Amino acid sequence: MPRRTKIVATLGPATDPISVMDEMIAAGVDVARLNLSHDTHARHRERAERLRERARAAGQEVAILMDLQGPKIRIGKFTQGKVELVHGEPFAIDTTCGIDAGDRTRVGTTYVELADDVRHGDTLLLDDGAIELWVDSVVDGRIDCQVIVGGTLSNNKGINKKGGGLSAPALTDKDKEDIRFAAELDADYLAVSFVRNGDDVRLARELFFEAGGRGGIVAKIERAEALNGIDDIINAADAIMVARGDLGVEIGDAELPAVQKHLISRARDLNSVVITATQMMQSMIESPIPTRAEVFDVANAVLDGTDAVMLSAESSIGKYPAKVVEALHRICLEAEKSVTRSSHRLDSVFGRVDEGIAMAAMYTANHLGVKAIAALTETGSTVKWMSRIRSGIPIYGMTRFAPTRRKVKLFRGVYPVSFDVASTNMHEVNREVIEELLRRGTVRDGDLVIITKGDRSGVEGQTNIMKIMRVGEHKLLADD
Ligand code: PGA
Ligand code: MN
Repeated sequence: MPRRTKIVATLGPATDPISVMDEMIAAGVDVARLNLSHDTHARHRERAERLRERARAAGQEVAILMDLQGPKIRIGKFTQGKVELVHGEPFAIDTTCGIDAGDRTRVGTTYVELADDVRHGDTLLLDDGAIELWVDSVVDGRIDCQVIVGGTLSNNKGINKKGGGLSAPALTDKDKEDIRFAAELDADYLAVSFVRNGDDVRLARELFFEAGGRGGIVAKIERAEALNGIDDIINAADAIMVARGDLGVEIGDAELPAVQKHLISRARDLNSVVITATQMMQSMIESPIPTRAEVFDVANAVLDGTDAVMLSAESSIGKYPAKVVEALHRICLEAEKSVTRSSHRLDSVFGRVDEGIAMAAMYTANHLGVKAIAALTETGSTVKWMSRIRSGIPIYGMTRFAPTRRKVKLFRGVYPVSFDVASTNMHEVNREVIEELLRRGTVRDGDLVIITKGDRSGVEGQTNIMKIMRVGEHKLLADD
């Protein structure tokens, strides 16, 4: 059985050697992430080109996800590079301090409006929560704090406000430039950081589309306020990412597990797609094997129903980029064995004929002992609906469109197959589909297969036929 849960891996210096990239592709990376918080456009372009070239050489489809930096608020620099903060002592974030003039008493920030967004009694978290400051007073752009949790604080570390509420818009000028760059590189997905609401997602989509981008939009859920309007965000995006790093800092780490479960189930209920991200295999940055806790974390995300699990530093700057993909692969495979059958949308009304066919196909497949589902698809919607239903049966998205083949790489249990319906005789489509599955070794004589397609093949949104066929007998059938 092929793995159903998909693997997103961030590219970086550690994955640059061709041999490493080849190993990662062989280990089963489905989506490669380019993190625009780091590196130059030239470097990202090089990585995207190399990835595409090596994927082609391996005969694999690997999608590219470009991840915008967003308004990550950071402190400035220290004249000494770093300072030691001590519990109980005063320290200030000072918007009037030079950006590289920090010292033992204060430091500047990249976000000059910060002083307007905080007040007496707030908590500021620095360096992903490693340092905690309590806000005493805000005077003339200077935020005077008391150190609650001290430690070493070095240049450019991130700042979050506990509980959320920093007003910075989701798209910075750099992000807007990066959106044009992502369109130019023909990214399959564009991830938008720190979205506050559906409008942030819609604006990013509009800018991406205007720039010629045709990929899907991933909304990163990493701000406390995003949780309030989550349905609108899910509906505005093509997928969401549970961005546990920043989200955990804003809402508290203990709140994360329940929120992760809620986000995954909400995304599935609304027919959307979800990536679970950050620190999944953190110890493998340095170590060739994961901790037990990491094994459980990945397995639990699979049981929660995530489409994909993601690697950040583990692959981009880690010591074992291919090994960590292999580890995810085997953990996901094993966890998938204990996934129970779905009762997804048992009580809901279907809005469209093609959605109805997708649901019928999955219900039948789950109850009839079908070996494979082959969906002729143009945009990938049919296979997305299908994959919202929990199942152990592989769903083959058969399409002549390469962007659709890459897009479906993110969907749990969906595998792209290059199939040109336009150049296939209309009456022989069923036979050709089964021949293609046979050639790929995914079915055998005697297996039952479900095929979905439209009367008018090659037109989007037209799926209205579900056909159940037995491999072997397909050769004897009269023309359809
Ligand atoms: P980042 O987003 O890696 O771009 O910060 C993910 C997260 O915050 O978890
Ligand atoms: Mn983040």
